[in-house]
This record gives sequence, structure tokens and C-alpha cells, in this order.
Amino acid sequence: MMFLLWGIALSLVEVLEKLSNANGVTGREDDVRNLMKEYLKPYVDEVREDRLGNLIAFKKGKKDAPTVMIAAHMDEVGLMIKNIKKKGFLQFTKVGGIDDRILLAQKVIVHTDKGPLHGVVGSRPVHIQTEAEKKKVIDADKLFIDIGAGDKEEAEKMGVQVGDVVSFDTKFVQIGKDVVLGKAFDDRVGCAVMVETMRRLQQVDCNVYAVGTIQEEVGLRGATIAAFQIEPDLGIALDATVSGDTPGVGEGEAPANMGEGPVLTVADAGLIAHPKVLRLLIDSAKENKIPYQLETGIRGATDAARIALTREGVPSGVLSIATRYIHSPAAILNLDDVEKTVELAVAVIENIPKYF
Ligand SMILES: [Zn+2]
Repeated sequence: MMFLLWGIALSLVEVLEKLSNANGVTGREDDVRNLMKEYLKPYVDEVREDRLGNLIAFKKGKKDAPTVMIAAHMDEVGLMIKNIKKKGFLQFTKVGGIDDRILLAQKVIVHTDKGPLHGVVGSRPVHIQTEAEKKKVIDADKLFIDIGAGDKEEAEKMGVQVGDVVSFDTKFVQIGKDVVLGKAFDDRVGCAVMVETMRRLQQVDCNVYAVGTIQEEVGLRGATIAAFQIEPDLGIALDATVSGDTPGVGEGEAPANMGEGPVLTVADAGLIAHPKVLRLLIDSAKENKIPYQLETGIRGATDAARIALTREGVPSGVLSIATRYIHSPAAILNLDDVEKTVELAVAVIENIPKYF
């Protein structure tokens, strides 16, 4: 079966591009969910949306075969409008983990009920800053978004309301041989891997639930309720993780590097990968001669942390892509890592009945 859009099958990189350019700040994942629904539909028996907005796609396996839940979160970190100032500038709060230092001067899009508005994160002009001021990080609370509105009334007329979400204004672009730059690769790369994995899975014994989850970045919320509904025998999160290969990252601080293959989490802040799942991942990589990297010690967690603690417990693991500058306006990743991660995910799903 081929995925057809305007008569042309979208490649893995095209799917990643469309998902990266789509906006889905936590709590407002609709656009990403619509794309995911469209992309997954041809390859599964059923697609539905649950009450809070998770997208749950199901591919039926053999009777009495194990059930796996693979999860990729659809949301991205961003901002939320908390106040419109008298002169039309917008104050905001952060949604998810963003470093205050990367916000200044970013081009952003404010998503209103009347449509998107372009803007920039402004601050006090450099020309009037004191030397002491220049050395200090400006708190996000002191920054504001300028959408070109003359005053509060005009901003409201343009459609701005308290609670509107704001995403970074970054377009996907290929910058190196296998290297692309874009926003929200955490976790649109996981979403793209999920779509391509479902496309490549032929006859498979186990029951596969492919879930696009919501609200991961604020506490793994979507995965919590999705796993409860699905009651899987095992869970695998597909996510982006830190790449440790840039200047300033010390040896051993971030063990995975971009371009060196899929990353298998041994432990993170929310999960110790179940030994049987880790075995399944490692064996599948070795059998198929797919290079892989083991990771531990990262202060973060994935949907797998919640899947694991569902009901009476679900053995779980994580398959990640090492990505530079995640949770910033522009991340970078290697397409070969994405391809290898798909290959590994397919092999893992095919191998599940041998382990569970
Ligand atoms: Zn993530």
C-alpha cells in the first residue's frame, strides 16, 4: 500500500518537513494530529482520537499475539500569552522547558482564533543598556512579543486573547548532506518515524497501537491516559534526545551523538528501561547490523515513563534520535539516524512475539 497525497507518495523526509513546519504547542496539537491522522490512515485498521486528543492508530495482529504501544508526542514547547499591555505588547509565559536565554529576538507566531500573527520577542534596546545589564540574562517575564499593534485594543482586534499559544517561526531546511534544520524535531521526528514504521510494517503478528500523544512536554499527560485505554503488553516511546557532540558538552555528559545511529535509553529521570525491552531493542539492532548508542544520565523523561506505570505495570523502553538544540527555535538532526531508527523500529515490532 502506498501513501498518496496529490498522487505522490511522501518520503520520510517530506513527512518530517511537514510535521516540523506544523504548529502544535502543548495543548493545541490539532494541526499535527490532523496530519498524523492523514499519514497513518492508509497503513492501519483503525484511527481514532480519544477524549483528550491523543491520536490512536491500530494495526490488528494475530489472535492472542502481544500488544505493543508505540508513542510519539505531537506537542512542542512554546509560549502562551498571559497579558496584553496597554501599548499592545504581549507578555507571555513558557510552555515546557525553554531556556530564557534563547528567547530574545526570536521571530514567533501567535496563534489566535482569527489566525496566525507574526511577531518578534523584543526587549530594551542595546543602545540604552548599561554594561551590567548587558551581562545579565533577561528573565522571560521581562520579555514581550511585538506584533505591531498600536495599543491593547488593536491587539485584541487582531485576535489576541489571553491563553493564545505562540510557536517559533522556523521553516524546515536541509543544510548538509544528510543534515536538516527545523523546529519541533522534539518530537516530530518521533512522529515521522512512527508514520514510516507503520508504512513499512507488512504482515506482523503482534497488535500495534501507534499513538500520537498530547501534552508530553508538561508532564507526559497524554501517554498516561492512552496507555490506560490500550493496556499494552509493552511500550516503546519514540523521541528526540540530547546530542552530546557540540562544543561545550563535556565527555560523558550526554553520551549519544548525532549521526551515530538510534539511541536506546537504559535509564533516564523517569524510567529504567525494562531489561526484556532493552534486550529486544539491542538484539534487533545487532541482528540487522544497525548501529546503536546506549544512553543514561539525561535529566529528562519520555512517554515511556508513564506507560511503564500504567495499571499493573507495562515493560517499557525508549528509542530516540540524537538531536542538537532541542527545545530551541531551531534544532538539527541527521536523516540517516532517522532512517536507521525506522529500520530498527520495524525489526523490533517484528521480533516482539519472540520476547513477549
Ligand atoms: Zn520529546
